[in-house]
Amino acid sequence: MTEPLPSGGAEPLGALPRLPAEALAACPFCQRTMLQTPTPIFYRIKVQYCGIDQAAVREHIGLGMMLGGTNAAMAIADAMGAHKPPVVEMSKGTVNVCLQCAQERIEIISLTGYALEGNGDG
Ligand SMILES: [Zn+2]
Repeated sequence: MTEPLPSGGAEPLGALPRLPAEALAACPFCQRTMLQTPTPIFYRIKVQYCGIDQAAVREHIGLGMMLGGTNAAMAIADAMGAHKPPVVEMSKGTVNVCLQCAQERIEIISLTGYALEGNGDG
């Protein structure tokens, strides 16, 4: 004979495994979590908001010009290294978009396809 569970058969909530935060993240378009979508496949889109440091670019070009201005001189300037990176990340974040919304928004599919073909930074 088995003893009945004290909670009527259900385990206490504390005993449930924790779900990964991404599974509970809401799609920004349909507001459903990735667990609630018809297909549990989603795009994880990493966004970096960047700017060009014009002073760093001028410094880099100036160094290349001082070395002769040729492609080889610019390569030497690259090897010498600029003091500041010309592209500055101002903020970044990640957003998960469910497969259904990504398919309905052709710009997202196009953008992710463009990045996955090796045109993005990875
Ligand atoms: Zn969605």
